[in-house]
Amino acid sequence: MVKRSSINNLDEKKQFFIDTIAKFCDKCGNLYSKSNLEIIQDTNISSIIHFSCPNCKSNHIATFFKPIGISNRMPINTDLDVEEIGKFASMKETSVEEILDLYLYLKEKERVLV
Ligand SMILES: [Zn+2]
Repeated sequence: MVKRSSINNLDEKKQFFIDTIAKFCDKCGNLYSKSNLEIIQDTNISSIIHFSCPNCKSNHIATFFKPIGISNRMPINTDLDVEEIGKFASMKETSVEEILDLYLYLKEKERVLV
C-alpha cells in the first residue's frame, strides 16, 4: 500500500469536516470548499475548525468532539484572527470532562439561539 502524503491527509480531514460539520455557509448558503477551512486544533479528543465564507466573508468556528461525534458551530467576529483563536485554544490541555462541560454549555446556548 502506498502511504498518503500529509497534504492528502489534511485534504481528507478538511473534506471530512465539510461533510460532517457544514457543507454550506450559515449566512448566505454558499458551498464551502476545502480552501475555506483552517484546522486550528486537532487532537484525539476534539478539533477546532475555522470556516470562512468567500462569498459573504462571514467566519465561523466549529468544534468537533470526537468521543461523542458532535459538532457545534458559532459565528465569530472577523477582527479575531485565526492565530489568536489557535493561541487561545491551545492555552491549556482539554480534558474529557471539560469537553463535556463545554458541550453541555453549547447545547444550552444553542437552545437559546434557535
Ligand atoms: Zn457566506
